[in-house]
Formats: sequence, C-alpha cells, structure tokens
Amino acid sequence: MSSAASTKRVAVIGGGILGVSTAVHLLRQGASVILLSERGLASEASGRSLSWLNSAGERSTPYHQLRVAGIDRYRTLFAADPSREWLQFGGGLMWNAAGHREATEARHAYEKSIGYDSKLLEPADIASATPGIDATAVPENAIFNPGEGWVSLPDLIDFLMEEFHARGGELVLNAGKASVMVDGGRATGVETAAGGTYEADAVLVACGAATPAAVAPLGVNIPNGSPVSMLVLTKPVDHNVKAVMNTPRAAVRPNPGNTFALDHDWYEEHITEHTDGSFTIPDDVVQELANEASKLIAGNPDLKPASWKIGYKPIPGDGEPVLGELGQVPGCFVAFTHSGATLGLITGELLSGEIMTGQKHPMLATFRPGRFS
Ligand SMILES: Cc1cc2nc3c(=O)[nH]c(=O)nc-3n(C[C@H](O)[C@H](O)[C@H](O)COP(=O)(O)OP(=O)(O)OC[C@H]3O[C@@H](n4cnc5c(N)ncnc54)[C@H](O)[C@@H]3O)c2cc1C
Repeated sequence: MSSAASTKRVAVIGGGILGVSTAVHLLRQGASVILLSERGLASEASGRSLSWLNSAGERSTPYHQLRVAGIDRYRTLFAADPSREWLQFGGGLMWNAAGHREATEARHAYEKSIGYDSKLLEPADIASATPGIDATAVPENAIFNPGEGWVSLPDLIDFLMEEFHARGGELVLNAGKASVMVDGGRATGVETAAGGTYEADAVLVACGAATPAAVAPLGVNIPNGSPVSMLVLTKPVDHNVKAVMNTPRAAVRPNPGNTFALDHDWYEEHITEHTDGSFTIPDDVVQELANEASKLIAGNPDLKPASWKIGYKPIPGDGEPVLGELGQVPGCFVAFTHSGATLGLITGELLSGEIMTGQKHPMLATFRPGRFS
C-alpha cells in the first residue's frame, strides 16, 4: 500500500481551541488534515475566554478526571518553557459573599475529599498564600487552589498553529458556514457555504456553541445550554497578581502585557442581542465590572477596559462534555464542551486517537453524543 493510500484524511470544522488542538494532534499521528473555520481563528469563545485551568468545586467523577488530565497536559507544556507569558500556574483563589462561610467550608471539604489541592484561608492568611490581592475585599473565608493556572487561548492557538503549518496542515479561513457531507449514511467530507467541497475519511465538528446547529441537519439532537457572556480585557496596569480570582462580583485573571481578563455573569441582563446576531452592552456596565475587579487587587488600581467581546459560551444542555463519534453518522465526530480551555489539549489528544484508530478511549465513555438519542 502506498503511503498516500494509507494516509487518513480528516476535515476539522472550527477554528477554536478544540478544533485547532485536535487538528495538531491528528497531524502528529500522520493524518492529512484540513481545518476550516467560518471566519478567523479564535473568533468565537476561544477569543473571549477567562481560561481558568481548573477542576474546582463539585461535578461528576469522569468530568473531574478529564479536567485533571487536562491540567496535567498544560503542566507538561508549561514545564517545557515556564517563561511563556500566556500560560502560567499561579493558583486560583475563590470566595463567596458574606454569610456563606459554611458553603466555602463545604466546598473546601469536598475538594479535600477527592484529593484536589485546596487550602481554606482566613483573609489574614491570603498574602502569604498568593500575592497582589486586597484581602479586605474578602468578607469571610477563601479557598486557595495552588495547582490551578490560566492560559490565553489566542496565544495558545497561535502556538499550536505554528506546528500545524510545520506539519503540513491545510487551513481554510473565512469559509462561511461549513456542513458535513454524507453518503451512504457515512461522513464523506465537508462543503462550505462558498461552494467548496473537501472530501475526507473522517470529519470533526468543533463549532463551539454552534455545534448543535451544525449537526442538526444530520438528524442528530444535541441540547444546547450556551448562555451569552462577555470577556473584558483591561489596559495595562502595574500589579503582582498571580492567581485567578473567582469572587461574588468579578472573576479576574492575569493576562499577557500586564493586563487583566475579567468575566462574571451578573451583567448578562444588560446585554442586548441584535437582529444581525451582534451584541452590545452599555459602557458603564463594562466599567462597573472593572471597578468590581479593582476592589480585589492590592492598591485598588484604576482599571480601564481596553476591549470587550460578547458572544455565546459553549455549554451542552446537560452541562457535560459531548465528545466522540455520532452513532447515526459513522465517520463524523463532535467536540462540544464547557470549560474547553481546561479540556483543550486533552480533548484533542483523546479524540484524535479515536479518529485515527477507531479505539474508544475509556475516559470519554460517559460523554458520548449518543446519550441524547
Ligand atoms: C466568557 C467565557 C469564560 C470562560 N471561562 C472559562 C474558564 O475559566 N475555564 C475554561 O476551561 N473554559 C472557559 N470558557 C470556555 C472555553 O473558552 C470554551 O469552552 C472554548 O473556548 C470553546 O472552544 P471551541 O473550540 O469549542 O469553540 P469556539 O472557540 O467557539 O470555536 C468555534 C469555532 O467554530 C467556528 N464555526 C462555528 N460554526 C461553524 C460552521 N458551521 N462552519 C465553520 N466554522 C464554524 C467558529 O467560527 C469558531 O472558529 C469560557 C468561555 C467564555 C466565553
């Protein structure tokens, strides 16, 4: 058999972290890969993600295990070059609103019970655990998770795409809406709104919040629970914050260039969706989020929003990842999940293995798309 005849051709739809990561892992295993995206790379959720690498709190055991494996892969990447400004492990710090001391204690006890590194702190203990925080903002107790980190997904995608190109991957940007071609009940490739057709032995649909819509024409039902959310990037400011903070009025993580990335959910009611699919939010609401973040940082720096992006945050209807081959359409795989930053590297690794070998990975057993049919 010639090498051309034995090379598996895979078409990946979606230029977010799940599509890019899986594409690179496929190339590493010798596949011929074409990656198609409706617009640019990181144009959707991966371009506006808090990207806190974590498995904090309580969730199903398989989901926790997958997330911990996800963090492990980032640890490996980090160890290869700890100086990268876009991937850091400074831990995570969370606290609840006043009056919820017991809820914080219960979360800490749960995390300890599953071996997740978790320190319960009083405000006076915070400075010795992690720098740059205004502990007077903490009304009661807090949890510090030293093993957590953060990544800037646009930078990670740039990094992975260097390898993608070096390994000969083919990239089609601004493809418009792509759809899966099916013949004889099996996926045979991808066609784009612009009229391009790309034959393939396997197709991965990694369209973020648009994944359920992308597979609906195939007769596949995947419930979609994706809310609208916003990420704000601030202007640069002097600070010494290392941890990702999750607090009652703001989530804050360091971002390259001495900036911060800010997120939360209280402002969602102020977001307006327009008929052309775009979103807006009043400037003063964005500044209010920056003001809330400022209260958490030592010295309370004057935080100014530099840019903000609004759009859907991919979340499957039942909250669990949807990963693997469609039973109804052999050869067509999906990757649709919440916490796709934490899961980006591990998902690409495990799904590419399934696409290349046909062997199902046990860690994905409970996440199959077939659970909805
Ligand atoms: C505000 C916010 C905060 C978050 N915080 C965290 C966090 O703290 N920790 C964490 O782990 N995760 C977090 N996430 C989640 C994480 O960012 C996402 O799960 C992840 O980025 C999703 O990546 P994706 O590749 O699945 O989708 P996306 O990044 O949305 O990419 C989808 C891609 O598919 C393309 N596409 C869609 N439809 C089509 C089509 N028909 N044809 C062609 N292309 C198409 C889009 O153009 C895009 O390129 C957060 C997300 C948001 C928005």
